[in-house]
Amino acid sequence: MGLKLFNTLTRSVEEFAPLDPAGETAGIYCCGPTVHDVAHIGNFRTFVFADLVRRYLQFKGYAVKHVMNITDVEDKIIKRVRESGAPLRQYTGRYEVAFLEDLQTLGCLRPHHMPRATEHISEIISLIERLIERGIAYKAADGSVYFSIEKYRGSGRKYGQLVKLNFDELRPGERVSSDEYAKESLADFALWKARLPEDGEVFWPSPWGEGRPGWHIECSAMSMKILGPSFDLHLGGEDLIFPHHEDEIAQSEGAGVQPEGRPFVKYWLHGAHLMVEGKKMSKSLGNFFTLRDLLAQGFTGREIRYLLLTAHYRETFNFTLGGLTAARTALARLDECLAKLREVAGNAAAAADSSLSDQFSAALDDDLNVSAAWRVVFDWVRETNRLLTDNQFSAAQAAAALEVWQQIDSVFGIGEKAGAEVPGEIHPLMEQREAARKAKDFKRADAIREELKVKGWLIEDTPKGPRLKRI
Ligand SMILES: [Zn+2]
Repeated sequence: MGLKLFNTLTRSVEEFAPLDPAGETAGIYCCGPTVHDVAHIGNFRTFVFADLVRRYLQFKGYAVKHVMNITDVEDKIIKRVRESGAPLRQYTGRYEVAFLEDLQTLGCLRPHHMPRATEHISEIISLIERLIERGIAYKAADGSVYFSIEKYRGSGRKYGQLVKLNFDELRPGERVSSDEYAKESLADFALWKARLPEDGEVFWPSPWGEGRPGWHIECSAMSMKILGPSFDLHLGGEDLIFPHHEDEIAQSEGAGVQPEGRPFVKYWLHGAHLMVEGKKMSKSLGNFFTLRDLLAQGFTGREIRYLLLTAHYRETFNFTLGGLTAARTALARLDECLAKLREVAGNAAAAADSSLSDQFSAALDDDLNVSAAWRVVFDWVRETNRLLTDNQFSAAQAAAALEVWQQIDSVFGIGEKAGAEVPGEIHPLMEQREAARKAKDFKRADAIREELKVKGWLIEDTPKGPRLKRI
């Protein structure tokens, strides 16, 4: 069965068919963090969702190119930089590092490309120049460059592909300089913002004078540079549908760089909001959590990831501390079952149990129905526990079960519980053995291998390097 996804562009669930005629590669762009502060748990819901999409496409056999930008210049950042007095790069660098740490804590795979807006100013300027050449963008009296919605529509393109818009409200000549605005204030939006005194040192030279890019054009320029003018999947939180994503389409398709008949993006996927304890997250309500706040309360990245992955991406999800405690219990059941299987399997090896992975993938093929996929996993845990209690599991069956869990976990990325992880003393030994092997000191390498064996670990040499396996 093929993967089906809900495409915001068509408002329907569609079969996923990549643009690659060979059907082998898939490109994903997900709008990344604005590094003006530490990201909150609502932001991370989107990034865990993007990680799930990427991992599942890989599970389905696609060679995925995953791009996530770092927005390191826009309105909010400039305001914070002004308040802090620190140079732009120094200010954003701190939050970028924190973000990458958080991503890792949550078990997200690092995107293949993480372009920074400030390192793509020339691509952004070229794209704006092209829009001006085509008569779709213009320089206004304030020195800024704006995207003309009227001219764009006049060129036969549609503005309002992701949302329905009321053009009767639009008064010609009206402009909006802020990056964020509501549908009701539909107006020409800024591509390049002329330097203002409050921008301080945050500016670049351009054909239109000193200034900086608008937020929307950053994503158009960086996504098309890395994935090409037409690519498969664009992801983001639902709050980005308008104006950000609508404007990305307008800029990218307005530039007319796509091959005939191809859209800028084939599938637009949007993750729903996250509520915390039944309410919209807000600092004043005391329900605003960063990942670090939750870790400080004793929860693990693994528990938080699991909880985020139990809800369908299109459902508004109520994130609660009670839910995290329940996540801990669910994971303990899973860990216990895996530990028992490991005990029974011993050194046995077997091919994965394909019926389980088929059920799992049938669930995820259905627009990433994670609840159904977890049901498959926990039904399997229950049945496995029953068979283990009755001593009805052979070593080979246990090995086959563990093998299929590896496949499932390549998608869920839950991993092993901390206790099952490799103890600190083991890794240095493995590295010493690797160094001995490289130095052709095979006697020492073998001695270390034996020492590891005594400690309960077996080294497997794979094409990707040595791998530790519990005996
Ligand atoms: Zn974006």
